[in-house]
Amino acid sequence: MSPSPPPGSTIDRRLGTHSDDFDILLYYLYFDIEDPELYAEQHRTLCEELGLRGRILIGREGINGTVSGLRDSTDAYQKALRDDPRSAAIEFKIDPSPEHVFPKLSIKVREEIVTLGLGEKDFSPNETSGTRLSPTEWHAAMQEEDAVLIDGRNNYESDLGRFEGALCPDIDNFRDFPQWVEENREQLEGKKLLTYCTGGIRCEKLSGFLKNEGFDDVYQLEGGIVTYGKDEEVKGDGFDGLCYVFDKRVGVEINHTPSRRLITECRSCGKEHSEYSNCAWKSCNARIFVCDECAAESGIYCDDECRRNDEAGVVLTKEEQLARRAEVAASRER
Ligand SMILES: [Zn+2]
Ligand SMILES: [Zn+2]
Repeated sequence: MSPSPPPGSTIDRRLGTHSDDFDILLYYLYFDIEDPELYAEQHRTLCEELGLRGRILIGREGINGTVSGLRDSTDAYQKALRDDPRSAAIEFKIDPSPEHVFPKLSIKVREEIVTLGLGEKDFSPNETSGTRLSPTEWHAAMQEEDAVLIDGRNNYESDLGRFEGALCPDIDNFRDFPQWVEENREQLEGKKLLTYCTGGIRCEKLSGFLKNEGFDDVYQLEGGIVTYGKDEEVKGDGFDGLCYVFDKRVGVEINHTPSRRLITECRSCGKEHSEYSNCAWKSCNARIFVCDECAAESGIYCDDECRRNDEAGVVLTKEEQLARRAEVAASRER
């Protein structure tokens, strides 16, 4: 499938043999931004000029973003951030792509660029954070006997893929982590805690939070799962399934070794399947795995209850919707 030429692409590119003319960037940096509103305004001008799309959060504590654009544009964007002395230390994870993976550009100013919701107990990861491990160090550390891997992401992310043997909190919002830690304190006590997330930013906060909560032996995977999958030495070894990403691709390959395996299956027939769909009954709308054959045969539904309700035009209240979604979530294998 060859994408239609984007505006501004060169003749060369239109006729070119390789179609990955775009790059997708994933990046963050904790640094002081004195006037976030002004910074965001200038950032918007830059991104619009470059034709970038994606989601960027800006706050007094730094920047957290993911964008897609033509390679020349994403190169210019990286240079602009590195040329600014305030953000010279920023690192980008880069994936080639045949097209934009975001529908539009969204830039928002937020109190926190990753929301753990600690209020007065909030802290800067530049001051408190777990020890950073390179992919090679992580690979060795996760095989140690007293190591406990903590997936720092949401349930729908770890459902799609995770490190083998990791604790995957059944939460659907990063804000719920403090409560999870409180409830699971016993199994974490005295262990070597290894936290990981998609690109590293959530672990900056989560590992620092764990330290503040009195855990001493806390580590984080530097650059996250995405960097781990790109590392030429470890090649994603030990990661099962796909890594959830917040763009059109949804799932990306991480493990490039013979140990690669998918861990998700069609909830109807049990066949290996790793593409998320949403239940067609709008009042449910749960994220589920249904294979193409089952979808063609009986539609995309969690179960018969969702199908019957959809056919009968049943509409749930907000509260009932949440309850239904919890039921569906509980019915999945974890
Ligand atoms: Zn199926
Ligand atoms: Zn459903």
